[in-house]
Amino acid sequence: MILPIVGYGSPVLRKIAQPIDKDYPGLKDLIANMYETMYAADGVGLAAPQIDLSIRLVVIGFRPYDEKTNTYGDPTEEHTLINPEIISFGEKKDWFNEGCLSVPDIHEDVLRPTTLRLRWYDEEWNLHEEDIDGLLARVAQHEIDHLDGKVFTDRLSSLRRTMLKRKLGDIAAGKIHPHYKMKRK
Ligand code: ZN
Repeated sequence: MILPIVGYGSPVLRKIAQPIDKDYPGLKDLIANMYETMYAADGVGLAAPQIDLSIRLVVIGFRPYDEKTNTYGDPTEEHTLINPEIISFGEKKDWFNEGCLSVPDIHEDVLRPTTLRLRWYDEEWNLHEEDIDGLLARVAQHEIDHLDGKVFTDRLSSLRRTMLKRKLGDIAAGKIHPHYKMKRK
């Protein structure tokens, strides 16, 4: 089931999300719905606060894109992060152009560490602690920010944020119409 995505300006995106345990009701279905919602919106990551649930749950998925047919192939990599925790960051940082399903039509370069050590539970409640890098490290940091009430535009310079003020205001006012379903207030 595709769920509506909440936009910039919604209070749930500013809350510290709560950890969950194995008894969280309907968790399997919720995770399946989050993947479906993310792919339907052409996203590579989705955090539960973006579907109006203030819990520490993230899905990440990468699919190859075929430019000839304008279609996506099957996912090559999927990660369900339950109660993820960043243990440490590597020293190197890099810029990467980020977007967010809750902040449609805005893409900005964000500076973040390129590697990190991450601890999380997967959907089978196996505990992982791994060093991650590349796109996974980038997306994981973006999504974990959502669990801590942060949006990627918070990480831009004050000048950039001033320049985006009107666009962000339009999103908060619901004056945007992406191709996927957004939750109206
Ligand atoms: Zn986001």
